[in-house]
Amino acid sequence: MSRSFLVLLVALLPAAAIAEPRPIEVHQVLVVSASGDARLAALTLDACDGGFDGDLIGFLIENRIAATIFATKKWLDRNPAAVALLKTHSDLFDIENHGANHVPAVIGRNRKVYGIAGEADVAHLKREVTRGAAAVSAVTGSPARWYRGATGEYDPEAIKVIEAMGYKVAGFSVNADDGATLSRRRVMARLKKVKDGDIIIAHLNRPGSETAEGLAAGLKQLLDQGFRFVKLNDTGVRPQPERGS
Ligand SMILES: [Zn+2]
Repeated sequence: MSRSFLVLLVALLPAAAIAEPRPIEVHQVLVVSASGDARLAALTLDACDGGFDGDLIGFLIENRIAATIFATKKWLDRNPAAVALLKTHSDLFDIENHGANHVPAVIGRNRKVYGIAGEADVAHLKREVTRGAAAVSAVTGSPARWYRGATGEYDPEAIKVIEAMGYKVAGFSVNADDGATLSRRRVMARLKKVKDGDIIIAHLNRPGSETAEGLAAGLKQLLDQGFRFVKLNDTGVRPQPERGS
């Protein structure tokens, strides 16, 4: 190997490292008016794959708590009875797009988020979004407006692609259940921190988890504190200010 080739190689290395973007998590809060009496929060529930947490949805129906549900085509296809129940309560639940096959919105071969492979290229990302949107509108009868990518992590380029397709990217500000892996007590502890305007993320596809119990207890406390729950389509969202600002 010639010396000049080695020099070239070393010069190119940092560029190669920079070329692979780090995925970002989108953090958003609701646009709330300071003069309003009620405290507002939004509950968003991801239906990635797998089953249906009937206890959780039953609790929300009983307590008239609205939620925006992000479902994949895969989940919608596998859970027709759950979809029928959600549609019966369309005043409480909006169904939005979580992709066709739960593929994270990171672009490039060998890219992964939490061990889940991303998209090979922009065309694959667009197909994931389009097929997910078609599945949602086939179920709800109205076009999907929001997109939340699998894992909630995105390449900046992927966000631009999704927004250019006409969808709003749905972030969050309070992660309630870490993908339905937390204990009841820890879910409750996360909900204790909810403030006016927060957007909560949790999961409705793991009925064996403690998410439903933790959310039921935590949401009851928030109702007692005067919180009202809105769907993302009911209000605007804005980027979450940096902590401390
Ligand atoms: Zn998911």
